[in-house]
Amino acid sequence: MDGTGLKAFLNRLRRLFTVSGDSPELVQAQFRAFCKQMPTLYFILTVSTLSVSYTFSSRAPLWLSVYLPMAMCLVCVGRFLWWIRAGKTPVSDDVALLHLKHTNVLASLLSAGLTCWGLNLYGYGDDPAQGHVIFYMALTVIGCIFCLMHLRSAAIAVTLIVIVPYIVFLMAEGGPTERAIAINLGLVCMAMISVLLTHYRDFKELIASRRDLTAKQVETQALSNENFRIANLDALTGLPNRRRFFHDADAAFAAAEANGRAMAIGVIDLDGFKPVNDTFGHAAGDRVLVEAAERFQSAVVEAGPVAATVYRLGGDEFGLVVQGDLAEGVLEDLGRRLTGTTARPFAAGGAYAQMACSIGFALWPQSGANAESLFECADYALYHAKRHLRGQTVLFSAEHQAEILNQSVVERSLQAADLGTELSLVYQPMIDLRSGATVGFEALARWDSPVLGRMAPGVFIPVAERTGLIGTVTRALLEKALREARTWPEALALSFNLSAHDICAAEGVVRLIAIVNASGIDPRRIDFEITETAMAADFERARQSVIALKALGCQVSLDDFGTGYSSLSYVHRLPLDRIKVDRSFVADLDSNPASRKIVKSLTSLCLDFGLTSVIEGVETEAQLGALSGLNGDLAQGYLFARPMPAGDIPGYLAGEALPRVAHGA
Ligand code: C2E
Ligand code: MG
Ligand code: MG
Repeated sequence: MDGTGLKAFLNRLRRLFTVSGDSPELVQAQFRAFCKQMPTLYFILTVSTLSVSYTFSSRAPLWLSVYLPMAMCLVCVGRFLWWIRAGKTPVSDDVALLHLKHTNVLASLLSAGLTCWGLNLYGYGDDPAQGHVIFYMALTVIGCIFCLMHLRSAAIAVTLIVIVPYIVFLMAEGGPTERAIAINLGLVCMAMISVLLTHYRDFKELIASRRDLTAKQVETQALSNENFRIANLDALTGLPNRRRFFHDADAAFAAAEANGRAMAIGVIDLDGFKPVNDTFGHAAGDRVLVEAAERFQSAVVEAGPVAATVYRLGGDEFGLVVQGDLAEGVLEDLGRRLTGTTARPFAAGGAYAQMACSIGFALWPQSGANAESLFECADYALYHAKRHLRGQTVLFSAEHQAEILNQSVVERSLQAADLGTELSLVYQPMIDLRSGATVGFEALARWDSPVLGRMAPGVFIPVAERTGLIGTVTRALLEKALREARTWPEALALSFNLSAHDICAAEGVVRLIAIVNASGIDPRRIDFEITETAMAADFERARQSVIALKALGCQVSLDDFGTGYSSLSYVHRLPLDRIKVDRSFVADLDSNPASRKIVKSLTSLCLDFGLTSVIEGVETEAQLGALSGLNGDLAQGYLFARPMPAGDIPGYLAGEALPRVAHGA
């Protein structure tokens, strides 16, 4: 063997007899195994030593047969107790390693001591007593190998320290039987050491694989924590997202129910966001959303006695989960604080956009049987705010509950209705303000429900939209309107109202075009009315639909103009023919100069853009009088005629001398 070979061999030998602290997991596992096995080892040693001591007590000197083994037994009992106690408290990696090293040394010292003791006693015994010593040594070694299996260095050291001197001694001093025993013992010990080495390797590998598994588990856990975080976060605003909202709402509801405390859910919707998005582009829209999120967040941080969290539910809709002392007025205060944050203009693509926000709150236990229904109540309150109290906060109330109940009756009846026979149309004439002549009729839907009686479109159209029935309703109505309009004089136009869904759904408009084509009516006689709300739902789709209807030859009007948010942007970006000025501006036309100014500017706008203006809701002579000089083109209203059934139209047209309009232009 050359120098390096010898060095490597010595290194291996050293490793074989030292305790390695390379793997803290292995050290801990060894220590834990020892806590269980070492008491057994010391028990075997103590019992065996006492038994040999007894055999030799009358043959050998007392110091050798009694005192010395007693001292060694005391050490064993001490260690026995120490290991039992050590098993009860966890120790650090360093301390465990130190104990293993001590055990390594102590095991070697103890085995050396016992071996010397046994060899010294041997000479004092007769054959059976010497046999006892040999039996004692063999038993002790096998017991030690088993108990020290998890600490290879100690097991091998003990085996060698005991067995080598014994074999040498028996081979030198003993007769043939003793030599045979020595050879037997040597071979058995070699076999045991080979088993020990295999076991120790397996043990080490097991611990290493467990460590890898734990590391993998930790890594997987970390990954899944990160995934969880991302999956629950809104990428744009950094707020917790819709998924998180429902999760937290459920948890808050369960907690509120468990300890009988109130909780609330809120839904915030930005008023006027869609036009900002349409006009300034999506990047500007995104910036507005981020800013709105920040403002809402700072508003809830200062929310006093309540803990509120803001979530982004999607689009321009935000959610709130509110817990804490929800005494009367607290939600209203929180709502005011939140709506107040939108008072300052938002930076949007180099310009500034003025927006507002409407909020709906629902409070448990007053409303909602679970988090989901509480959310629906809050959503309804928001819907209410958007329709009647824009830019304000509405708390879901018992009246809202009654309304919902009504709506669900409407919904059920509509779903069960025979739309072909129950739906009908009434027609309201449109008058040329200059000539006073009727130029066409607007078709207005009616539903004669066998359960609920006659229903106005303001009630059942939103329900049809919500339940997805609107497509069927619109097609049935359009077919009917076109059939009836065919009987009118050629010069009269038909105005027909479309809902958002009709122009935003992918194939909605295609089916309408097919109906127009099949009717045989000249498309130029048909005027489709769309509202700003419909445009806001999905402007690009709506624009495509408008273009398709125009390509067919139909006209398109923007209905209820002035009630929405970005009227001007739509006028500018859509190929419109008419604008219908909402009747809210006409109501006080004769008494309010501001209304007069608004109507005047709207008719001028139409003039500038080459559009026809239609003034809706003219009810009185005074209003008609106030319209003079305002340059309106057409008008509609109870003053001229209320909506009438198709059967009344011929009579109306026959008696159509309308002296009232003479001074209206
Ligand atoms: P709109 O298109 O603005 O129709 C005008 C509404 O004002 C009609 O109410 C009409 O009866 C009413 N009106 C007309 N003149 C006067 C007046 O001088 N004073 C007052 N106070 N009201 C007047 P109606 O029939 O209840 O329709 C309400 C809304 O329902 C319509 O508003 C339209 O947006 C929608 N709608 C009507 N029919 C249909 C339809 O077939 N499809 C769709 N999608 N919506 C429809
Ligand atoms: Mg209309
Ligand atoms: Mg209208």
